[in-house]
Amino acid sequence: MRNALLSAVFDQMADIMEILGKDRFRINSYRKVARTIGELPVDAGLLLEEGKLAELPGIGKSSLAKIREFLEGGRIGAHEALLEQIPTSLLELLQIPGMGPKGVKAVYEGLQVTSVADLQEAVSDGSVAGLPGFGQKKAAALLKGIEFLQASTGRIRLDQALEAAEMVIAHLRDRPDIDRIEPAGSLRRRAETIGDVDILVATRTEGSQGSIVESFTSAPFIERVLAAGETKGSAIIQTETTPVQVDVRVVETDSFGAALQYFTGSKQHNVRLREIAVKGKFKLNEYGLFRGDERIAGEAEEEIYEKLGLDFVAPPLREDRGEVEAARDHQLPALVQIDDIKGDLHMHTFGSDGRCDIEEMAKAARALGYEYICITDHSESSIVANGQTPKRLAKQIKLIRRINAKLEDITVLAGAEVDILADGSLDFDDELLADLDHVVASVHSGLTSPREKVTMRTLKAMDNPYVTCIGHPTGRLLGQREAMDLDMETVIEQAIQTQTALEVNANPYRLDLKDTHSKMAIERGVTLAIGTDAHSAAGLNLMPFGVATAARGWATAANILNARPLATVETFLKAKRPR
Ligand SMILES: [Zn+2]
Ligand SMILES: [Zn+2]
Repeated sequence: MRNALLSAVFDQMADIMEILGKDRFRINSYRKVARTIGELPVDAGLLLEEGKLAELPGIGKSSLAKIREFLEGGRIGAHEALLEQIPTSLLELLQIPGMGPKGVKAVYEGLQVTSVADLQEAVSDGSVAGLPGFGQKKAAALLKGIEFLQASTGRIRLDQALEAAEMVIAHLRDRPDIDRIEPAGSLRRRAETIGDVDILVATRTEGSQGSIVESFTSAPFIERVLAAGETKGSAIIQTETTPVQVDVRVVETDSFGAALQYFTGSKQHNVRLREIAVKGKFKLNEYGLFRGDERIAGEAEEEIYEKLGLDFVAPPLREDRGEVEAARDHQLPALVQIDDIKGDLHMHTFGSDGRCDIEEMAKAARALGYEYICITDHSESSIVANGQTPKRLAKQIKLIRRINAKLEDITVLAGAEVDILADGSLDFDDELLADLDHVVASVHSGLTSPREKVTMRTLKAMDNPYVTCIGHPTGRLLGQREAMDLDMETVIEQAIQTQTALEVNANPYRLDLKDTHSKMAIERGVTLAIGTDAHSAAGLNLMPFGVATAARGWATAANILNARPLATVETFLKAKRPR
């Protein structure tokens, strides 16, 4: 699907025109096209062929011509002409949180800033604060944004890394000389962001290593080859949303397990393993576990752990956070698996900003084998997300009850994602909340407020007897927005006291609670709810990202609300309510 790229091109044209101060009307129309294309459930090329593209909202004659130009030739002339009118480095400023085209225009015109480095300097010497519409506060926020951007560049999201790995694996899989092929590194550990994607290939066919590397580096999706040797190839590949560096290593099948262990890491985990090996008079490296010159393990990863006297450590745990000791003492948790999940308690429909109706969501959930779902559309204050008024929600509750009565093998619960307002109160009255089965309370604004304020809001929301879960507790968006400065210890304590679940939001932009926070919460006995926050039926498929994040926090199925059968979930959801 080229939709994401095409949508990004239209957005970039709008950005450049806004920086250049062109007319509003065309800018808005490009934005609209970008949005329409970005949300299409099928490839835009398909709709073009069928002549249906022109029927979509916002797609006029001239946009249609540009779309055709892109789909046929991979470029848009008007886009390239716009790019020539500004320094390319100017566009990087748009990646700074809090910096939009208007801000870029102001610093470009007012201070001749053309790059992130220029901007950093202009903030430091006080000239940004002096620009109309900026001031000290905004300048300070920009500086924080720049630091955030610099810390996050080069890292990609888990879904992007997985997409790249799947492209490479699908391309190589059918070669008969390949015995095994697996992602390694931080992707295999399901870390929240990934640097390079590592893929490990096993072969026992002599002389075929170089040819496997070559079939990787000559794949059609390769943008640029960085290195190609006898056993290792390194290249940039273009996924739907971002370029990704992928390293493919080919090893002999005999040592595949040792290599997989070695290249999965983490470094800290491997240091601990080597210490144990040395103590036992072994030698451990990427080729195997050796006693003297004899290899005593290598083909299977499990054997390496076993021979070192350890239980097998699942990759998400390999961070040296106590897993080595637990493996030695046979105390490792039986981690929650995707198959344990029995339902999804956070999703949006046409009721607010979702793109499917209730029945479509229920049908898709049933296909995933779920017992239950909960519809949690936004509340009134979330205006950009088309939040529901109390009246609309009351109507939706009736609709959900009707649909639920009709459905046979899945239960649809009525819920809402209610905004936590600035003073910690909720966007709906208790009377209305009492009609719901499940209330996810979330902060969607004022995320940059000081620690006391954001913590107070969250604590107060949990005091409400109808709030059963706090949604995406820190509000972070990986690579885009920093987490709220929550006092997590206090939030966790309050969650236990008030019997409120905390969410592990499965959207790969969020993964919130993150792994270390999940671990803290689980150790204290908090119940976690893994929710996809799906905005379409396809969004329900994000669940594995949340499960992996909870697993990195050492979660077992018992810690997860939606790994329990419906009756047990209902008991939990009613526990806080006045009797
Ligand atoms: Zn939300
Ligand atoms: Zn949501």
